[in-house]
Amino acid sequence: MTVKPPIAAEMARIVVVFDFDRTLIDGDSDSWVVTQMGLSSLFNQLRSTLPWNSLMDRMMTELHSQGKTVDDIAECLHQTPLHPRIKTVIKSIHALGCDLRIISDANQFFIEKILDHHGLLGCFSQISTNPAFVDDQGRLRIFPHHDLNTPPHCCHLCPSNLCKGLVIDQIRASTTQNEKTRLIYLGDGNGDFCPSLKLVEGDYVMPRKEYPLWKRICSNATLVKAEVHDWSNGEQLEKILLHLINTISTEDNIRSRLSNQLNSSERRISTHEDACPQTLSIPH
Ligand SMILES: [Mg+2]
Ligand SMILES: [Zn+2]
Repeated sequence: MTVKPPIAAEMARIVVVFDFDRTLIDGDSDSWVVTQMGLSSLFNQLRSTLPWNSLMDRMMTELHSQGKTVDDIAECLHQTPLHPRIKTVIKSIHALGCDLRIISDANQFFIEKILDHHGLLGCFSQISTNPAFVDDQGRLRIFPHHDLNTPPHCCHLCPSNLCKGLVIDQIRASTTQNEKTRLIYLGDGNGDFCPSLKLVEGDYVMPRKEYPLWKRICSNATLVKAEVHDWSNGEQLEKILLHLINTISTEDNIRSRLSNQLNSSERRISTHEDACPQTLSIPH
């Protein structure tokens, strides 16, 4: 199915925020590395003893002790499946002028290696995730996004290492006064519920159908102020995302055109702003 390309998103600032695991990529990058690099049994053995974030750091130590290098880990990450339509739509909406972000409980190394491999890293203006670096032994270390030196975030919906809702607050706060931000949030997991609650009227949330975020939104519909559009696969994600960006751009162009007409005051306006915006022709 072909999708009409949206017009350039120049009126509102459209910020598209992706969760990473099971949203941008089809699977989970942590689990991918654990299974592909033979760490499943140790992982399962330690699962109940450590927070996820610390457990992944421990897994990297294990790989290092087995003589596996960060290049081996990167090579494994390059094999992570990414839906071709998701790759395409990220490039298209970046070219249209949307501001693309990632908020993820994976880590900086995994995300950057995967995005870079697919030529997508430059499309994102910000990646908020757990920091990672390679120490002088050549071992990959993974740390919490909110570290022990910062005050705890006090959000009961999120794990201690990352409250995604706080990142949404920061994105909203970075908006200048006369610029309206329209947010589109895509996610699948329980950790994506808090940021979904931070969305306001005029924003959109795109939960992956049948996944935990979708279930929580379905059972708490009155708490969510954003318009909800679910998706199941890369084709649907592409189609819906382009449609939403098109809708925002169209609404915004009409609003801008109406205000120009009102300012010129020569003609009486017979078209109501809310009347069938999709059918009006859009000046480019
Ligand atoms: Mg996820
Ligand atoms: Zn939170």
